[in-house]
Order: sequence, then structure tokens, then C-alpha cells
Amino acid sequence: MESSTLIKKIHMNCPLCDKTHEVEERKRFATITLKGDKVTYEERFYFCANADDEENEFETGSMTNENLLNARNVYRVKHGLLTSDEIVAIRES
Ligand SMILES: [Zn+2]
Repeated sequence: MESSTLIKKIHMNCPLCDKTHEVEERKRFATITLKGDKVTYEERFYFCANADDEENEFETGSMTNENLLNARNVYRVKHGLLTSDEIVAIRES
């Protein structure tokens, strides 16, 4: 398994094993190709310990959106375009 970090455990209805149990919310670095450019970004996902090794991860819709947003931010930074977060940071410093 790739290295990932545990963020927290959430008691929820797990779509993978169809049971309500504690699912691990984890994060790791992933690579995506945006406009032909490879960027490494941080993504969050849920991990089910009950499911088999082949398919033990899933994302909610909002999580997927957030991950994509992260990837786009990394792309912007790489190409010298400021992210909205950074603009706030500059104003506050
Ligand atoms: Zn599960």
C-alpha cells in the first residue's frame, strides 16, 4: 500500500462493505496530469478495513471536488499563478 496518513476515524455507513462502522479518513500524495503536465497534490480518501485489498478506498463527491481543487492549486503554483489561499496569506503577512 502507498504511504498515507490517518486524519481521523468516522463512524459512517460504508458503501464498500455495506455496514455502519468506523472508516478511516486518510490523506496521501497523488499524481495527476493536468493540461499535459504532471502535478503531485495531496488527496483525501476514506479507507475501509473490512473490504478486500483490491477495493478498499472510496471518496465522497465533495471529497473528489476538493482533491481536484487541490490539484489545480498545485498546477497554478507550479506555473506562477497565485491561488486564492495564497492571496489571503500575502495580505495577512
Ligand atoms: Zn466498510
